[in-house]
Amino acid sequence: MIECISLLRVYESATGRVQAVRGVDLTIDAGRSVAVVGPSGSGKSSLLRMIGGLDEPTAGDVSIDGVNLVRLSGGARRRIRARLVGHVHQRPTDNLLGHLTAIDQVVRVAHRRGVGIDEAKEMLSTLGLGHRADHLPDELSGGEQQRLAFARGAVGSPAVIIADEPTAELDTASTDRVLDAIQRLAGGGITVLVATHDPRVLDRVDQIVTLRDGSIASVCEAGTELAVIDHAGRIQLPPEVRAHFPDRRANVHWDAEHHTFTVKEP
Ligand code: ADP
Repeated sequence: MIECISLLRVYESATGRVQAVRGVDLTIDAGRSVAVVGPSGSGKSSLLRMIGGLDEPTAGDVSIDGVNLVRLSGGARRRIRARLVGHVHQRPTDNLLGHLTAIDQVVRVAHRRGVGIDEAKEMLSTLGLGHRADHLPDELSGGEQQRLAFARGAVGSPAVIIADEPTAELDTASTDRVLDAIQRLAGGGITVLVATHDPRVLDRVDQIVTLRDGSIASVCEAGTELAVIDHAGRIQLPPEVRAHFPDRRANVHWDAEHHTFTVKEP
């Protein structure tokens, strides 16, 4: 399970301070596939880097399977990250070592996570690559390379796989097979978090988390889109609705009888 509490990331740069992630509260159960979407600059990479233990929040907490990454020293965080988190990058070749066969790529990670060649072989088969075990990356298609990247990420049962636009460079047939792989891994208990713009991915995940300006604007599950109320009680309005409130003032009303909250133009 992944738990983010009041997660904040502020960057200080020459041009000033940027609040990339502003108080995100998010809980994701084990074995879910989740797409993180939102316009460029909305904070997707910053959020995923913190969940993956690659970056530290300015404030707030992030835990994976009950281990709070923020409370760990650098060395301990690196060890926990290696055990609990798998990463898949956008470009298939960035995920793989060119001189190692498919099975050797997976075995290297398997050993780091305390499992052996049998688990590595099984993972290749699970992702439909059993017959490609002895091939080098440049003998594989882009889709096969990307499934191999998921096999590396998933061997030895980490808690979460974080994938950044994993289908951006793939054709539809390869994308379908990568999405099958994601579903299979999630079905096996691994949480798969995917930053994406790809509508083909959105159709196949359990949950879609939409970020806007560093906050979670909505969470969509089983076709139902729910606005998110943050820890301070704020709801983020979509830009097209916000345009109706140029003075940033609204009439609000709670109808206790119908359990309905309305926000009206003043
Ligand atoms: P996304 O992945 O949705 O495009 P990012 O998390 O990359 O969003 O960026 C969110 C905001 O933080 C943007 O305004 C971006 O310019 C800023 N940002 C990201 N990384 C840095 C950094 N290392 N230094 C300064 N600003 C950054």
